[in-house]
Amino acid sequence: MWIDAHAHLYDFDDAYLNALIDRARKAGVSTIINSGTNLSTSARVCAQCERHENLHATAGISPFDVEALEERWWDDMERLLDHPKIIAIGETGLDDSNPAYPSATAQIPVFERLLAIAHDRDLPIVIHSRGAERRVVELCRSHGVSKVLLHCYTGSVDILNEALDSGYYVSISGIATFKKGPLDEIIAHTPSNRLFVETDTPYLAPVPHRGKPNEPAFLPPLGAYVAHRKGISPQRLADAIRRNFSALFGVSQL
Ligand SMILES: [Zn+2]
Repeated sequence: MWIDAHAHLYDFDDAYLNALIDRARKAGVSTIINSGTNLSTSARVCAQCERHENLHATAGISPFDVEALEERWWDDMERLLDHPKIIAIGETGLDDSNPAYPSATAQIPVFERLLAIAHDRDLPIVIHSRGAERRVVELCRSHGVSKVLLHCYTGSVDILNEALDSGYYVSISGIATFKKGPLDEIIAHTPSNRLFVETDTPYLAPVPHRGKPNEPAFLPPLGAYVAHRKGISPQRLADAIRRNFSALFGVSQL
């Protein structure tokens, strides 16, 4: 069975969520990491995960959500992180890919605060990074945070190698299945004991579902694609990912 390492389910109502989890299980996806992007979506993620054993929660502030924060927002974040279904902080990180996004000056202090909390609590951190991978790796290192998952990694192979040297894990999204195999080099460079695969639901539906709202049930074709690039069977990759999940998040999976 597959693990979907990154999905955003907070906009789905209970009925839709139940059906989505059912479709996922039938498709061979047993476990889903449901990630918040700000205080309110993170609270919803925690509530959803209470009702479903195989949903795990992460709470964070995404680079797109850094501007609406109140003073001492981290007090609320700390309370969310006490929730029993929390397995990591995130998503958080830096995005320098579009001038319309919040400035680096706004993003960095929030990311650094979450890194400090991750360090204090010894929690893994789930990172979104676009156009800022070098800085992300530097900041993780300077905060002494080594349990890192680079979600939807699309950066250079150079920085990937640095990240792997630092012990980080890398998650491959449906972008891998787009024409010309844009992530083939990244997949080739990442050993299977550091790999995850993710849908990033509701975004980034993989081929052959491209253009539709994504969901965890669409993960297996992506897993099969990544396994094929690694020259191993989908079953072997799924087994490796379950071991990686236990190693990084400290949650054992059957
Ligand atoms: Zn995400």
